[in-house]
Amino acid sequence: MYTENHCTVSIVYSDHLQISMLMRKLNIISAICCMLLFTQCTNAQNKQTMTDHTNNPHYSRTDTAHLKVSDAEWKKILPADVYNVARNKGTEYAFTGKYYKTDTKGMYYCAVCGNPLFKSDAKFASSCGWPSFFEALGPGSVRYEDDNTHGMRRTEVLCGRCDSHLGHIFDDGPPPTNQRFCMNSVVLEFEPDKK
Ligand SMILES: [Zn+2]
Repeated sequence: MYTENHCTVSIVYSDHLQISMLMRKLNIISAICCMLLFTQCTNAQNKQTMTDHTNNPHYSRTDTAHLKVSDAEWKKILPADVYNVARNKGTEYAFTGKYYKTDTKGMYYCAVCGNPLFKSDAKFASSCGWPSFFEALGPGSVRYEDDNTHGMRRTEVLCGRCDSHLGHIFDDGPPPTNQRFCMNSVVLEFEPDKK
């Protein structure tokens, strides 16, 4: 009887030990899975924010020469979403762009040609759902054209170097300029300041 009881206790203890070891193993496996998932997410985010320009010979952050590139060539070079806004004057949906909430210090470049366009210091929190700035980096950074499409009278903002459509400018911005450069995230490329 004693032996049997002792044996039962041993088996139960042994089962507990095995379950506990199994749980420990499962915890370790879960932790490894979480780490792998986190690494993959981080890589995906990096890929999302860092655009590959290797097949774009016109891209430069220092060359200021005005570009004359045909739409057919841009179509071959640019990702479809960038091409649609930059060359077909499309507009991304409000509150969907990658930069409308960004408040990190840095510089915004043209995603098509690399021209520096806006400093983060000129960005302000706007409720419109698109990244908004009260001034461009310099007088040559952007240029303007009248836009009377869609039954509205607006002023279009284009990149000063490659003439890509960036968005529109309105006079309801904050001081000191009272202007609002309402831009599409997809044609901007943000580079955070180096710490
Ligand atoms: Zn450009």
